[in-house]
Amino acid sequence: MKTITHWIDGKPVEGTSGRFGPVWNPATGVQEKQVALATADEVDAAVASARAAFESWGVSSLARRTAILFKYRELLDARRNEIAALITAEHGKVHSDALGEVARGLEIVELACGISVQLKGELSTQVSTRVDVASIRQPLGVVAGITPFNFPAMVPMWMFPLAVACGNTFVLKPSEKDPSAALLLAELASQAGLPEGVLNVVQGDKAAVDRLLEHPDVEAVSFVGSTPIAKYIQLKAVEHGKRVQALGGAKNHMLVLPDADLDFAADQAINAAYGSAGERCMAVSVVVAVGDTGDELVGRIAERARRLRIGPGDDPASEMGPLITREHRDKVASYVASAAEQGAEVVVDGTGHSVEGHEDGFFLGVSLLDRVPLTADAYRDEIFGPVLAVVRARTYEEAVELINSSRWGNGTAIFTRDGGAARRFQLEVKAGMVGVNVPIPVPVGYHSFGGWKDSLFGDLHIYGGDGVAFYTQGKVITTRWPDPSDGGINLGFPSNS
Ligand code: NAD
Repeated sequence: MKTITHWIDGKPVEGTSGRFGPVWNPATGVQEKQVALATADEVDAAVASARAAFESWGVSSLARRTAILFKYRELLDARRNEIAALITAEHGKVHSDALGEVARGLEIVELACGISVQLKGELSTQVSTRVDVASIRQPLGVVAGITPFNFPAMVPMWMFPLAVACGNTFVLKPSEKDPSAALLLAELASQAGLPEGVLNVVQGDKAAVDRLLEHPDVEAVSFVGSTPIAKYIQLKAVEHGKRVQALGGAKNHMLVLPDADLDFAADQAINAAYGSAGERCMAVSVVVAVGDTGDELVGRIAERARRLRIGPGDDPASEMGPLITREHRDKVASYVASAAEQGAEVVVDGTGHSVEGHEDGFFLGVSLLDRVPLTADAYRDEIFGPVLAVVRARTYEEAVELINSSRWGNGTAIFTRDGGAARRFQLEVKAGMVGVNVPIPVPVGYHSFGGWKDSLFGDLHIYGGDGVAFYTQGKVITTRWPDPSDGGINLGFPSNS
């Protein structure tokens, strides 16, 4: 069985812990690989490598850093099919979706290629007589990234390209469920000329994460994953004096007003609810149908849902692949059963779906639940699977109140032809990312990504301007070049003249 290694100091490193995690092919249900789970010593080796590399990388020229990033961009572009195939083999998502993930990650590499513009400082001349003030931003040192299973290439690429472009060195701890894509990303970065130790990958579980959070040489932690772990990461990182941004889970609502184009809204609900088998933090998991649109909208969504082709991700005919593990598949299915018991109408039941020739794969059909009570587990929990809940609201105000009372605030969307209503929604809704007739409003690379409430712990969002701010610290320099006539003793507080 293939064993997936760490990547430390510019080369693959076998694990020594004797502990391994299973890596499944979700389409076949067969464990094809295992991943080494790091010990604290192995994490320390990766941090030591990053710490040593920071000495020269942190002061290397912008020209050198960006030349490497441009080359990296070309390598990633040339190898995007291979990266996508690795994602499909371990995560299960269909190849076109995996290619989309790589493309969205590449956006951040492209942003990092232009880091010189983002790192331009500010200068005020003659703030006082012969005194100038400059603001600059400098790297932090060693930064750690801890990432989830659902975007094994894109989420790491939300982090390390910008971090290293800013002059930091990086230790990445990918999800142990689909760790190979991150390893290939690190290998390609080395091929592009990134010096040894600037980007390290330690494979592992809680033991590796905890060591990163405690390590005195780790200055900052970027985390993306579920809400309970995000909360834990924030508290522990702060306890150890680190800067932290921890992005958590979500329950994203799509509000449909009566004037919306219902066919368009139904198409978008399908794409956003069932794409990647619902394993997206920006998936639409609740549709809020306003006024009398509910029956018609549910009918149109159901008709489309029944036609979706579910199958292995490497079959071009498949529109939706399997879920990540058998346990997760069964847990998702249990929400459909509990929703029925708790008063929801099961319009489409995807449980028990199997794919011919792939009976052991972790497949689940798509489910559509209507009139889901707000007290039902299927409404209250993040299911993270292909289950779409529809709830009804009498008015726009009632719908917004419902969305705003959710504990999460990652993304949300409104579907309407009414510009005034859309404008009100943008201002009134409590979420970090808002779509207007766009169901999955993941911001482009040069705008930052992040939610509100239980969807983000910390204050700075990820990538874009916030990403640069997170991976750098400010310094303000006040300079005077005195004239021979200047001088004299004055113990008063300096004021400008
Ligand atoms: P997860 O929280 O289980 O795992 C995320 C990372 O934390 C992994 O690297 C894992 O090894 C580590 N981890 C898990 N348990 C830990 C523990 N007890 N102590 C320390 N580290 C631990 O999340 P997941 O299941 O891999 O990913 C799915 C979740 O991520 C969903 O909730 C989804 O909404 C969320 N997500 C959020 C965003 C966002 O941008 N807000 C993006 C993608 C995924």
